[in-house]
Amino acid sequence: MRIRYLGTAAAEGFPAVFCNCAACKMARELGELRTRSQALIDETLLVDLPPETYYHTVRFGIDLSAVSHLLVTHSHTDHFYAQELVNRGYKFAYGMRAKTLRIYGDETVREVFAEGTAREIKDDVRADIRFITAEPFTAFDCGGYEVYALPAKHTPSERALVYFIRKDGKGILYLNDTGLPDEGLYDFLREHKLRADLVSFDCTLGGSQEIHSGRHMNVYENAQVLEKLLRIGAAAPDVRAVITHFSHNAAPFRKDMDSLAAKFGFIAAYDGMTIEI
Ligand SMILES: [Zn+2]
Ligand SMILES: [Zn+2]
Ligand SMILES: [Zn+2]
Repeated sequence: MRIRYLGTAAAEGFPAVFCNCAACKMARELGELRTRSQALIDETLLVDLPPETYYHTVRFGIDLSAVSHLLVTHSHTDHFYAQELVNRGYKFAYGMRAKTLRIYGDETVREVFAEGTAREIKDDVRADIRFITAEPFTAFDCGGYEVYALPAKHTPSERALVYFIRKDGKGILYLNDTGLPDEGLYDFLREHKLRADLVSFDCTLGGSQEIHSGRHMNVYENAQVLEKLLRIGAAAPDVRAVITHFSHNAAPFRKDMDSLAAKFGFIAAYDGMTIEI
């Protein structure tokens, strides 16, 4: 599997959309940016649909029409900009490679999909989109990828998900957005003998030790989770640990995130980074 990080910022982006803090000003001056988080696995399995999805297609030369399955972690706008889906067909898209798009997400994502597309979606477009409500601790097949939906610790208002994705004996554990996971997640991975070759961490808070949000993580919490995954055999000994989804409050300049990651043997994601496992 090949995972490509198309965006690596938290909800506000970096530089943040309305912000004039020192880090954001500097990021603007340097032209160093991180867009909202999204990942593409091989060519056909997409994780999340931020507002920058369109920009990602042009920046990285991605054929979004080839995507047949979309995993949505939760309904927050930085992860699910449903309105974009109205452009998937009719007179807005020709020569599409995948006829049907299957979207997986929780009940709230389903509602946001319905609300966000209600005014503009054409019947033809709607007919080629299937929404499947994903429950925590269930598995499904996404065009040859074995996908497990697991509970995130993110918001009380929604049953947000994280995902384990497996193909050809390789596994990716995608942990956005979440604070420290509950025991149930570890138990499930152990019981189902799911072992990650790559773990993608919510590192919204970067190297900050003071802030423990409970709904996102810092790098120290990432290290704690990785240590536990390794201990129970849910991560391969040579696992690649990637940190991503950085807030502007972490001043996530690339060189600083690289050195922070290096201290833990992690890899700091950047927009466009590709890893093959
Ligand atoms: Zn987020
Ligand atoms: Zn800022
Ligand atoms: Zn969120």
